[in-house]
Amino acid sequence: PLILGIESSCDETGVGLVRGCELLSDQVASSVEEHARYGGVVPEVASRAHLEAMTPTLHRALDGAGVALADVDAIAVTAGPGLAGALLVGVSAAKAYALALDKPLYGVNHLVGHVAVDQLEHGPLPKPAVALLVSGGHTSLLLVRDLATDVELLGDTVDDAAGEAYDKVARLLDLPYPGGPPIDRAAREGDPSGIWFPRGKWGDGTFDFSFSGLKTAVARWVEERERTGAELPVPNIAAAFQEAVVDVLTRKAVDACRAHGVEHLVISGGVAANSRLRALAEERCAAAGIKLRVPRPRLCTDNGAMIAALGAEVVAAGLPPSTLDLATDTALPVGQVLAG
Ligand code: ATP
Ligand code: MG
Ligand code: FE
Repeated sequence: PLILGIESSCDETGVGLVRGCELLSDQVASSVEEHARYGGVVPEVASRAHLEAMTPTLHRALDGAGVALADVDAIAVTAGPGLAGALLVGVSAAKAYALALDKPLYGVNHLVGHVAVDQLEHGPLPKPAVALLVSGGHTSLLLVRDLATDVELLGDTVDDAAGEAYDKVARLLDLPYPGGPPIDRAAREGDPSGIWFPRGKWGDGTFDFSFSGLKTAVARWVEERERTGAELPVPNIAAAFQEAVVDVLTRKAVDACRAHGVEHLVISGGVAANSRLRALAEERCAAAGIKLRVPRPRLCTDNGAMIAALGAEVVAAGLPPSTLDLATDTALPVGQVLAG
């Protein structure tokens, strides 16, 4: 079946089309530049941008796949988690198309979509797999026995998300928003070895994370330097900060695989675009005999194809469609693949 996926949980309007694990098209319109001057996403601005971008993005996706709206067999849409007003635009659009085309509608979980998208690049996800989800709003380890029906939360951040830490530290270093890409670039020119930043919850036996202490440590370090009037070694700070983040992420991900006897690790979400995270994960997985899957960076950040990919799983599992009174859920828990 041909699945249409619609994403609007944050600042990307995404529409994708898939058939099973085959990606047919993926169109994204982002309002990130409109938020950059505020240093973070402004919900009202995001909602309005979704409203304007939704229909043109959908038509570009259909054109890209060379299909007509009438060819679509089912519609999947992000029902949560995310920003209330932003989610509402996608869910309303999806309901309208489902009603007009008389096709089933599935309100799905954005976070599980971040994991499901890997299937479009690497084929069916082996069962079970551990997933490290690292994004702007989440940092979680998941035990995925089945993408459509059985996703268990093993651990979560107790404070900031990894992407949030990148964005906050970028601000401290006067780098632009969103902070992930510029820190990734700066760190490549830096040497992490001269500065040590704390690894939150290191070796505590849980699969939880903490990044607020790291952010505070970077802030202290920067303040101290500024007080003495010395120039900031931005590349070195970026490299040391990044090393602290990816060290603890990869260690806990490998530990989770070992603890559950799982051979496959998938890393996804916006921070999975990070070059150092990808390199260190490869190194540590190879050493531990774990097979690593990381989708290409474009699929790691928010898009509609990831929602279509999860929709395809849900349809294949024969789960019941959502009704037209499907509600958005800003705090949809990751274990709930389909919104209630
Ligand atoms: P969520 O999925 O939790 O709702 P979100 O959808 O806003 O949050 P994503 O779009 O998946 O998050 O990811 C955005 C985050 O990824 C931002 O915090 C951004 O800084 C970070 N990011 C993007 N590229 C990189 C990179 N190369 N290195 C590190 N972080 C990155
Ligand atoms: Mg975004
Ligand atoms: Fe996301």
